[in-house]
Parts: sequence; C-alpha cells; structure tokens
Amino acid sequence: MQPMPDTPNRLFEVSCKSCLRTPITVARLCDPDIALVTDHLRACSAYEPLGEEPMLGAIMARVQVTRVARG
Ligand SMILES: [Zn+2]
Repeated sequence: MQPMPDTPNRLFEVSCKSCLRTPITVARLCDPDIALVTDHLRACSAYEPLGEEPMLGAIMARVQVTRVARG
C-alpha cells in the first residue's frame, strides 16, 4: 500500500466537550496529538479520570473533532 499523501491544507481542531476550551489544532491525529489531547483530558476534571492507557475511543468520546482547511 502507498503511504497516505501529505495533506498540508488539512487540519483538525480538537476541542474538549467538557470545557469547550480553545481547540487544539493538529495536522493529523497521530500519537503526539493524541497525547496532547489526553493531557488536557487528564487536567480537565469534569469527567471521571482516564486510565493509564486510555482507549482511543474513550478519548474521542470526550472531544469534538472538526476538520478545517488552513486559511
Ligand atoms: Zn477540558
């Protein structure tokens, strides 16, 4: 399989459903980006705490992801 081509005009805004803080903008949802979001969710105490290694689904259930074009 070919690797995915880079899509520099595509960004994702990830915002916490709980506090609706300024979204974290990421180029793609890869591990470092997920880690940022996870860090926020740990700091944001409105939900029950995430486990040591939360499932991606558990993270994504707490955030809203919007695909945006770089302007
Ligand atoms: Zn939050």
